[in-house]
Amino acid sequence: MESRSSEERFAELGELETVALQCTACDLAPGRTHVVFGSGDPDADVMFVGEGPGKREDEQGLPFVGPSGNLLDQLLGEIGLERSAVYIANVVKCRPPGNRDPRPAEIDACKGYLRTQIVLVDPKVVVTLGNFAAKLLLRTEVGITRLRGHPYEWWGRFLVPTFHPAAALRGGARVLEDMRADFGLVREVIDGNLVVESPAESEPSPAPAVPEAEQLGFFGGSAP
Ligand code: URA
Repeated sequence: MESRSSEERFAELGELETVALQCTACDLAPGRTHVVFGSGDPDADVMFVGEGPGKREDEQGLPFVGPSGNLLDQLLGEIGLERSAVYIANVVKCRPPGNRDPRPAEIDACKGYLRTQIVLVDPKVVVTLGNFAAKLLLRTEVGITRLRGHPYEWWGRFLVPTFHPAAALRGGARVLEDMRADFGLVREVIDGNLVVESPAESEPSPAPAVPEAEQLGFFGGSAP
């Protein structure tokens, strides 16, 4: 796994953030108030990946500070975690206008940042929130409803796909219960009850298999 010390990884994250704050690589740059790079413990065992900043996040420069963030905090609390103990980032770092879906060119332009964040934080488990993050990281077109409910071995760590908190806020009790079950898997990883068997160098291997998934590697893209 990652051989650099915490201090080195922390410094590199800071350097990457400095680059990201000046990024003009896609069409989202002119409309943003703030780049929402990510926040939390750079040594976290758990890293969350959302879709992209909303209005509140764009205003404050921090991920998940609106209603979705409140639900995320609640679910974290239910598995005994505080937000300060995890790291949170998004697929795209700038707000898509009107909260539209990020476009492929925007995701492509931004994914190097996320890739490097994952390498530097080096969490035991990556939790994807919603379709966009799951599809990008697992390189699949399978939707989140089918993907969720299982941990995947992914580049020497676990990946737990779950719904976006906004879906639970819209969709009610069933989605929320499914998210609780998925957060339970996160707790299992932290407690050491789930152990990765594949070395980091090998291809990510989902268990159970995702038939349509294109398991081609670490979603491509080099660090910007
Ligand atoms: N939704 C996201 O996907 N990310 C945020 O940071 C906030 C809302």
